[in-house]
Amino acid sequence: MLKGKRALVTGSTSGIGLGIARALAAQGARVMLNGFGDAATLEALKKEFPAHSGADISKPADIRAMIADATRALGGVDILVNNAGIQHTAPIEQFPAERWDAILAINLSSNFHAIAAVLPQMRERNWGRIINIASTHGLVASPQKVAYVAAKHGVVGLTKVVALETATTGITCNAICPGWVLTPLVQKQVDALASNEKISMESAKTRLLSEKTPSKEFVTPEQIGALAVFLCSDAASNVRGAAWPIDGPWTAQ
Ligand code: NAD
Repeated sequence: MLKGKRALVTGSTSGIGLGIARALAAQGARVMLNGFGDAATLEALKKEFPAHSGADISKPADIRAMIADATRALGGVDILVNNAGIQHTAPIEQFPAERWDAILAINLSSNFHAIAAVLPQMRERNWGRIINIASTHGLVASPQKVAYVAAKHGVVGLTKVVALETATTGITCNAICPGWVLTPLVQKQVDALASNEKISMESAKTRLLSEKTPSKEFVTPEQIGALAVFLCSDAASNVRGAAWPIDGPWTAQ
């Protein structure tokens, strides 16, 4: 379905980004990865995805250079998935200002820089798909996550503006809002819960899910990849500016 399309997925050496990269590639897209990892992980991924950008998404100049690199390496960027993200949890009084800045830069400002850099070529071809990975925390809040919630609400707002500015073109911009997905980002929160409450890892996972998720199931990177593929399809050409939950149904409550 995506044969001939060229995709760039940020933060795709792990978790949800890798799931999306694999789903797009399975539909025939050529995909450039981005993100960090140890040498062995990056080497293994290189066999699956020869194109990789080591751009640091916290740095605007790196992001703009990454779009130029992807355009050179793939011949263009038709699909941009802004997925790179980090988390830090603490009450606002103890929240380090440096973590606030880093989360805003990586989880929100990166979307602005990447979209601004890629839009001109999408407009030239009058086709493009921009998918921003927000979160349920783009729609509702939880304590201890002031920077993350602010950034993800920002991503949902930015998505709507880009959708309006491209509304008469063949370019769509949407956000995906996942609930809990068991990736390294969430594993850290499971580890912290297990250690703080002195409970097993399995009990910590069950506790985490039962707090917010009626289905009591983690969402998988494969399911999010399949939703991204749909948003790239012709059938989704009038899905514009959506903030699409995939959250079992956390935000229906
Ligand atoms: P992850 O930790 O498994 O992966 C994060 C990816 O981002 C990695 O590839 C990492 O190398 C990359 N990355 C981090 N900082 C970077 C930087 N400065 N420059 C370049 N790359 C960088 O996390 P994940 O859970 O797969 O999260 C991916 C996205 O999904 C994030 O935006 C996250 O907020 C969002 N999300 C996750 C969940 C969840 O439950 N896991 C839920 C909702 C939304």
